[in-house]
Amino acid sequence: MDDRKRVLVVGSGPAGLATAAALVASGVPTTVFERGDAIGAAWAGRYDALRFNTSRLNSALPGAPFPRDFGQFPTRDQYVAYLQDYGGNRGLLVETRVEVTRIERTRDEWLVHTSKGERRTPHVVVATGIMNRPRVPEWAIESGFQGELIHSASYRNATPFVGHDVLVVGAGSSGLEIAHELATRGARRVRLSVRNSPNILLRVVGGLPSDLPAPLLLHLPTGLVDRMLLAMQRVVNGDLAPYGLPRPAEGPISQLKRRGAGTAIVDTEVLDRIRDGTIEVVPAVARLDAQGARLVGGAHIEVDSVIVAAGYCPGLESLVGHLGVLDKDGMPRDGVASEQTPGLHFVGYVYRPGLTRYVGRTARAVARRISQETAELASVPSSD
Ligand SMILES: Cc1cc2nc3c(=O)[nH]c(=O)nc-3n(C[C@H](O)[C@H](O)[C@H](O)COP(=O)(O)OP(=O)(O)OC[C@H]3O[C@@H](n4cnc5c(N)ncnc54)[C@H](O)[C@@H]3O)c2cc1C
Repeated sequence: MDDRKRVLVVGSGPAGLATAAALVASGVPTTVFERGDAIGAAWAGRYDALRFNTSRLNSALPGAPFPRDFGQFPTRDQYVAYLQDYGGNRGLLVETRVEVTRIERTRDEWLVHTSKGERRTPHVVVATGIMNRPRVPEWAIESGFQGELIHSASYRNATPFVGHDVLVVGAGSSGLEIAHELATRGARRVRLSVRNSPNILLRVVGGLPSDLPAPLLLHLPTGLVDRMLLAMQRVVNGDLAPYGLPRPAEGPISQLKRRGAGTAIVDTEVLDRIRDGTIEVVPAVARLDAQGARLVGGAHIEVDSVIVAAGYCPGLESLVGHLGVLDKDGMPRDGVASEQTPGLHFVGYVYRPGLTRYVGRTARAVARRISQETAELASVPSSD
């Protein structure tokens, strides 16, 4: 077949794979580009101790339940193996070590620039993930700090920090889990810098995964769900204000919708280490200097290492920014399962809990639309 008729999918995370699988199942030839070494490279590159914070029911792709031995919360490596099996079992064509650098519209097709040359296609699906590029605060750029300064995206395990006095900045799931690992695996001292008190839910409450009702709760009014989840935090976590974590100013759903910040979901041991002072909560960082950090409020602390756990952004500007399809935050204007301009599709650009499962559902909608259009085109008599 004419290679220029293949649908091109950018990214082999759950969103890209699920879209490609649905297309292939409908008979639409599809190629997936993955910039990493293998399928699921984004997950493979995350920290060693990472486990899912959403449970199996809310996390597996539709039609592909997690194996029983994954337990409720799969590990990073289990999930990478799952994605690779998913791609392999469905016969997906995935070209690894190919980075898509820019997508352009020509008169009647899309020109996809990659690190290995140009490709043309009638349909391109962008599935590079909302957590594609580490978000780095101003104060961490050219800071002059002489110790080790990394983003949590580059953190693997505690080994390089044994004996260090470490400042972890940011109290989302990653920041809290990394602070806990450092504190229990050999760092000399661990401080956690917090700007806004986070919403913190435990992975398991009363023996059940705390995210189980999430899909139902998302149908209720945001204010109501926020009040319920704030109350639950008070009952389950107790008062964390004496340890530097007062009641959050905003509920988790409003926070997620407003700034894409998720609720921190952690194990109870993490809160235990905050309560017993093994992890010390300190104010936000105002700036770094050679020896350490000046905190908001004026205190100065000396540290050996700083780990910035400030989250991620989609980083789509260089890829599609020139096409006028992004909003002021760099998100596709409709990134759920949209076709913003004919032939350009986005899958997975929405902030919501249980995204790894949800992207599978939206992928099917995109694939259905593409296969319908492909079938309609094939039925038009050729003018050649
Ligand atoms: C630390 C951490 C923990 C998380 N835990 C959970 C969880 O427990 N539950 C949950 O639902 N979600 C979790 N998430 C969110 C999770 O990333 C998404 O739910 C899910 O992986 C999104 O799938 P995706 O396919 O859209 O993106 P990704 O999984 O990020 O996949 C995108 C793929 O595209 C590739 N890519 C990017 N740019 C290019 C390019 N230009 N060219 C070629 N390839 C490219 C990447 O290498 C990657 O393989 C977590 C995120 C992080 C950072």
